Amino acid sequence: MTRQLPEIHARPLIGGEWTDRDLERRNVYSPVTGAALGSIALCDSRFADMALSAANRAAGDWSHTTVFERIEVFEKVKQVLAARRDEIATVIAYEVGKEFAHESRGEIDEAIAHFDEAITGCRDLEGRLLPSAVPSCRNYAYRVARGTVVAIQPWNFPIAMAVQHIAPALAGGNTVVMLPAPTTTLSATLLVECLVEAGLPAGVLNLVTGDGAVIGDALTRDERADVVAFTGSTATGRLIAANAHNRAQILELGGNGPMVILEDADLDKAAEGVVMSSTVASGQACTSAELILVHSEVYDAFAARLVAEVENTTRVGDPFDEQTTMGPLQNESTAIKVATHVRDAIDNGAKVLTGGSPLTGFDTDLYWPPTVLTGVTNDMLISRSETFGPVMPLQRIESEDEALAIIDASEYGLASSVYTRDIGRGLRFAERASTGMANVNLPSVWSEYHLPFGGRSGKGSGTGRVQGRFALTDVFTELKTIIVDLGQ
Ligand code: NAD
Repeated sequence: MTRQLPEIHARPLIGGEWTDRDLERRNVYSPVTGAALGSIALCDSRFADMALSAANRAAGDWSHTTVFERIEVFEKVKQVLAARRDEIATVIAYEVGKEFAHESRGEIDEAIAHFDEAITGCRDLEGRLLPSAVPSCRNYAYRVARGTVVAIQPWNFPIAMAVQHIAPALAGGNTVVMLPAPTTTLSATLLVECLVEAGLPAGVLNLVTGDGAVIGDALTRDERADVVAFTGSTATGRLIAANAHNRAQILELGGNGPMVILEDADLDKAAEGVVMSSTVASGQACTSAELILVHSEVYDAFAARLVAEVENTTRVGDPFDEQTTMGPLQNESTAIKVATHVRDAIDNGAKVLTGGSPLTGFDTDLYWPPTVLTGVTNDMLISRSETFGPVMPLQRIESEDEALAIIDASEYGLASSVYTRDIGRGLRFAERASTGMANVNLPSVWSEYHLPFGGRSGKGSGTGRVQGRFALTDVFTELKTIIVDLGQ
């Protein structure tokens, strides 16, 4: 049930010109079919220089546009995105392996929602007239653009994560140099085309393509990047934080989405929530449930409900098939990591209740079934590091304090969730959980686009908040103070 897709050959966009003179190219392969979808140009560090120069040149004019001029462009971008929704979603489904009807299309809807947030955010951007000790003086403090933003994205939500950076950065009056993940640059290219089609002036958004270790490293070291916005793994985030230590940063990094099922939980609701959190994006979301802590009083009953929920509500297959709820994993290294973590758990005493190995009969070896493991302990690889697959490892706990201690000891601090029928108990738990976001009786992946999204500082999940207007006010603009003496 495949869909037609013309080959895409991605090129950098610099200062309004699509260019790839004398660059090597690399094919991009689909995790769905194994076939080549097109290719990307591999930019070298000269392109970091060229893109930053172009963005710096455009920064003055763009920062002087009124917010109403910016809003006019964003309204057009939304229209173009809506018109090209199925085309872009088709590329996402092929590049990422995401189910087409809801998840791949949903990324375009999310992108439109982030532009809506940017529109509201820049329209409401407030300054202050502060009192002065001198009667003839007026003290203004108001928000101004920082300059040029380098924005680097992962492959798991290629459009949504890009727009989380681009929309508030542009709304704040900054120019942008964007680097998508190499394996999802084709869909990212279509996003950039939409902004160009909507009339964004040349140089305001620049696209570079290629390997992060080459072009991303050069971009983040360069001091002409006034802000570095990064979403990706904790390991890369640490390199970038060091490169850009003297500049504003927003880092959205890894997570393990701890979900805690207390003994008074509604087990059906909890099973539904865990399956959602572990199978959205085939378990390859930063907030996916990878640490599932179940009170021993309900451990066996919950495990049985979870297996039933998996069997009744999930189906792995072709992302374009209407029956499919989950496509393949996106890449081989993720599939190897998932297999290694599951093997390690089994070797150390865990039991597979359902799933446990890749499915056969598909065009690639990347189709993993939802997998439920019991008997998981805290010393296993699967409990300690991000697995990034549809695996639900159930760990036994005796108390909520034990659950809170396990969450606290984890490297990550992004999103957690607790299930209990006692709402007061749930809220107290959420307040104490050492994560930037904590949900009660909702899955760890649950959020809304106007809410702050990010990790607790001091842990490995990053710093700063995306979504809503938080990145716009906290990172992509800064306060400027002007004192005027009006004279007599
Ligand atoms: P990654 O860190 O491997 O790559 C992310 C981006 O960084 C890519 O564009 C890559 O080209 C670039 N890059 C690689 N090395 C670089 C370097 N030395 N300098 C500059 N850029 C470099 O991550 P990934 O595998 O693409 O994405 C998956 C990870 O992203 C997971 O850990 C996931 O949890 C995380 N993630 C976090 C959030 C969040 O909001 N917290 C959202 C989505 C994904």
